[in-house]
Amino acid sequence: MKKHLFLLMAGLVLSLAAHAQQKGRQPNILIIVSDDHAYQAISAYGGDKLMETPNIDRIAGEGALFNKAYVTNSICGPSRAVILTGKYSHKNGFRDNENSSFDGSQNTFVKELRKGGYQTAWVGKWHLETDPQGFDYWQILPGQGHYYNPDFLMMDGSRKRIEGYVANVTADVAEEWLERRDKEKPFCLVIGHKATHRTWIPDTADMGMFDEVTFPIPETFHDGYENREAARVQEMSVARDLIMGYDLKMFPDYDSIRDGNITRMNAAQRAKFKAYYKPIYEDLQARNLTGKELGEWKFQRYMRDYLATAASMDRSIGRTLDYLDRNRLTGNTIVIYVSDQGFFLGEHGWFDKRFMYEESFRTPMMMRYPGVVKPGTVSDDFVMNLDIAPTMLDAAGVAIPPDMQGESMLPLLTERNAKGRDAMYYHYYENGEHAVSPHFGIKTKRYKLIRFYKRVESWELYDLQKDPRELDNLYGKKGYEKLTANLKKQLDGLISRYEDGDARQILLHQ
Ligand code: CA
Repeated sequence: MKKHLFLLMAGLVLSLAAHAQQKGRQPNILIIVSDDHAYQAISAYGGDKLMETPNIDRIAGEGALFNKAYVTNSICGPSRAVILTGKYSHKNGFRDNENSSFDGSQNTFVKELRKGGYQTAWVGKWHLETDPQGFDYWQILPGQGHYYNPDFLMMDGSRKRIEGYVANVTADVAEEWLERRDKEKPFCLVIGHKATHRTWIPDTADMGMFDEVTFPIPETFHDGYENREAARVQEMSVARDLIMGYDLKMFPDYDSIRDGNITRMNAAQRAKFKAYYKPIYEDLQARNLTGKELGEWKFQRYMRDYLATAASMDRSIGRTLDYLDRNRLTGNTIVIYVSDQGFFLGEHGWFDKRFMYEESFRTPMMMRYPGVVKPGTVSDDFVMNLDIAPTMLDAAGVAIPPDMQGESMLPLLTERNAKGRDAMYYHYYENGEHAVSPHFGIKTKRYKLIRFYKRVESWELYDLQKDPRELDNLYGKKGYEKLTANLKKQLDGLISRYEDGDARQILLHQ
């Protein structure tokens, strides 16, 4: 029996290797993971065109744009753990940012690539608490990292502070590694960008770049959260929860700021910071805004800073793409751009993420794979961050471990008759910052069913075709009994498939 299995596995490995060989050498892999970057803020996705992101758009234009890419758990650390392992949070153990630390001894796609002959590195934001394992090189930001003069944790246990702005510094560190890598081997490099994470401090070169723009107030900005208990109790409101002396950089005295994000700036950076923000503070004082006007003022400030950090990151990505061009690596390098989740840019009145609502559940994702994925491809299949690990192994001709829960996305892009998922499963666990209730649920092509638990006990049901903004909770309404029962059955099937024992217990005890 064992021998039979071995032969079967060996055959599989050989056929995968042949598959990769047919396409030429094993491709290099570059994965760029940003933090909290909303698809609404990427010009390749059209929409309101809040800003231009030419470099991120270039990846999509020369490869595939995923219109329906989603995450399994919309928050920073957990998403990175999913990307690495190809497994849901309950399997990889990193459920939330507050209590989890990543068990680095477990398998990852990077370890599999390394066994398959790849040279591997991760630079920039990591956010998994424990030191990276399975990399030939790493140089990571501690925790959330800093926008200015960031410290890096080095492999030898030391800390190194690098003067400059984080997007530029991260691109430098990535290039330095690409320069000194073993050029005989294919590489897998992950670049973790800090942008566009809170508290959105722009590069001095970008401060004020959107000051002439008044961003449209989202239709749902003044949402009253009727019939949606979990949405009502959250603490991530732009108008109420953004902190003046932190998120919005409004200080009564710019010479006595104690916020460590600001005090770490050098004298020149600090002077520019003051020169930009102090007049805004003074103007705000003079205008004496309250209520709705103050909320909308905060929204404009939030958008201007957020998008300015995105601009620095987009430029930095352009530099990395240029490096590949200059070194004739573009033709044999897969480039993926993905955010660790989506983000609310004022929809429902919010900043932040976490909810299974579209803006945070859906993430920007694009992939360039010259010679394999046709430029200008647009995919409407359901794909997830869970799929990145198996996709990279598939591309490298390395066997996908059977316990990975994602699926290779390559057939969806290269085979006419390939069929993607009918439905996606989601589970968010954190029950702390921003007071978002834990929840799990299912999204099908048309509907979404969510079960909130722990903080709020409730169900929500949306018809995304009739109500794409998810304002009308249909759960329990007359006429939806049969649909609800069917969706619960499908949800149950996914819980079984992914072996989510926690969710199973909650459903059993409802
Ligand atoms: Ca994040």
